[in-house]
Amino acid sequence: YVLGPRGSGSSESGVSEGASNILFKVVLLGDPGVGKSCLAAIFREDQEKESSEHQQQEVYECTLTVDGEDTTLLVVDTGESEAQKPNGSCDSPMRLGNAYIIVYSVTDRASFESASELRIQLRRTRQAENIPIILVGNKADLVRSREVSVEEGRACAVVFDCKFIETSAVLQLNVQELFEGMVRQIRLRREGTDT
Ligand code: GDP
Ligand code: MG
Repeated sequence: YVLGPRGSGSSESGVSEGASNILFKVVLLGDPGVGKSCLAAIFREDQEKESSEHQQQEVYECTLTVDGEDTTLLVVDTGESEAQKPNGSCDSPMRLGNAYIIVYSVTDRASFESASELRIQLRRTRQAENIPIILVGNKADLVRSREVSVEEGRACAVVFDCKFIETSAVLQLNVQELFEGMVRQIRLRREGTDT
């Protein structure tokens, strides 16, 4: 039920008839507690739900209008047991995504190191593919308990050749921007090298 980046991208007529509206599966990865579920919760506005911690995987479908064009994302929030699945298994989160958001907490250096590890695993698992990845330093609101600087996050993203943004899921800072950035990354890939 997941469609890959298959559209030709040639029909930019602005008349959206469904066919041009491709679904992209965006997977959230990162250590437990870094704020993945809180970030995904931006798409959960009409549901009053508190018990997400007990669920292993949640998928949100959302359509974002970015630069005047709609793109529908399936945002997959992975739970703890999910992350334990070996990369080889076909339902491993490392395999099922069309794009990735790797999250760490700026208040937790170990989660920052895990993010690098995840990036390396992802590259190994999906070698041939040029998949969009955004590195996210979440909990930027917790100024006093910060352990990872913005500069470190940015430098890490340079090394790992991905985009970078700091967010605060609780204050909803940069969360919209994160997902819009993801849409732009996806479109860049879709359109290939020419314009
Ligand atoms: P997950 O395990 O990665 O899904 O993390 P959760 O989304 O469940 O968040 C773990 C804890 O961190 C919860 O208590 C959240 O309220 C808290 N949290 C998540 N994002 C932020 C943030 O941006 N700032 C602050 N201060 N707390 C956050
Ligand atoms: Mg969670």
